[in-house]
Amino acid sequence: ELTKALFERIKNVDDKIKAYITLDEERALLKSREVDKKGDFSNPLTGIPAAIKDNICTKDLKTTCSSKILANFIPPYDATVSARLKTGDVVFLGKTNMDEFAMGSSTENSAFFATRNPWDTSRVPGGSSGGSAAAVAADECIFAIGSDTGGSIRQPAGYCGVVGMKPTYGRVSRFGLVAYASSLDQIGPITKDVTDCALVLNAIAGHDKLDSTSADIPVPDYTESLKPDVTGMKIGIPKEYMGEGIDAEIREAVLEAAKIFEKMGASFEEISLPHTEYALWAYYIIAPAEASSNLARYDGIRYGVRAKDYDDLIDLYKKTRSEGFGAEVKRRIMLGTYALSSGYYDAYYLKAQKVRTLVKRDFDEAFKKYDFILVPIAPTIAFKIGENTDDPLKMYMNDVCTIPVNMAGLPGISLPCGFSQGMPIGLQIIGKPFDEPTILRAAYAFE
Ligand code: GLN
Repeated sequence: ELTKALFERIKNVDDKIKAYITLDEERALLKSREVDKKGDFSNPLTGIPAAIKDNICTKDLKTTCSSKILANFIPPYDATVSARLKTGDVVFLGKTNMDEFAMGSSTENSAFFATRNPWDTSRVPGGSSGGSAAAVAADECIFAIGSDTGGSIRQPAGYCGVVGMKPTYGRVSRFGLVAYASSLDQIGPITKDVTDCALVLNAIAGHDKLDSTSADIPVPDYTESLKPDVTGMKIGIPKEYMGEGIDAEIREAVLEAAKIFEKMGASFEEISLPHTEYALWAYYIIAPAEASSNLARYDGIRYGVRAKDYDDLIDLYKKTRSEGFGAEVKRRIMLGTYALSSGYYDAYYLKAQKVRTLVKRDFDEAFKKYDFILVPIAPTIAFKIGENTDDPLKMYMNDVCTIPVNMAGLPGISLPCGFSQGMPIGLQIIGKPFDEPTILRAAYAFE
């Protein structure tokens, strides 16, 4: 019934929202019936219909990364996250739209179509996991899975008024996640509330021998963190996230949230994370550098679409990549190749890695004193479709509040904390490495 109701809902609203690229109705209904027959509902996610971002491999189900170059790619295997959810009898409704190869902040960089914000369809849902966030917000699934390299789970969750978590780097296996920037990518849940976030994290977290960067650290039961108690907790509010460039209403909403925590028995203070301003620029060296290397595999031979007419092997590569990649992906490949080329490597890539260490140290220092850090999710509410498409720099600036968290490998959760012009405002809670329990607890208390 639930699966049918959701497909009914998708049929009614997805023309307007455009959250999904691929629907898998037949298999979803089959799986639902199977689960019903089994009748074992001891696992809370059993039979729950979910949507999966289209850069996470699903066996025998198209996985396009919203790119023409993978438009026909059907993975012969499941990502570890997909496999774990399937083992838990989650029902996959389909695959959601995204910025091509997760490069973007608005889902306008999809090679297929733009997704719309369910609160106002003239606005973007955020990105790159815009399809996943919109599907949750528009009741087109019960929960969704996204990926976050520089904010791609948290920012769309914030723009769509839902809950999104980027776990600590290494907490969730990246095996089968199509790599964008491998040292920054993490998979995480996008859900309707904090309880669901904990349940989904329980299902997907944990060591995986197929991902050498996954951490061999025990996974707690995250639902045990769901206690509305923040008594005695110390909160840091970095001034670098609350100054110029951040909308006044967003700043106020974050301060208002801090006061609510104070009323519940926590205390807050202004702090400084002095290297914040450099994080964004360093990210836009490191992420494109890793992307340029990761995307070298799309050569028309091994995966996906191949150009039709070509003279020789080099021509085949050139034509396939010219036709297959969109403008933003090409921009990143060029930026990254440049930053990695001999003679420039030290000046750009190495320098950026040093900045990354400084950003991480700022957080390490702060976490000696504070339990969690409270900041906005983005400088503005969801912007209008088309507003930033001609200005990549403006689009990149939008990630200023989320990127440092990826650079430092920390967990961050986004949850709604108010409205501006009828659109949701997102609050971000940042935690110590592997301290998802504290940020879940704070988020649960706040919600
Ligand atoms: N907007 C950022 C970028 O374009 C982050 C995207 C992401 O987290 N995948 O790189």
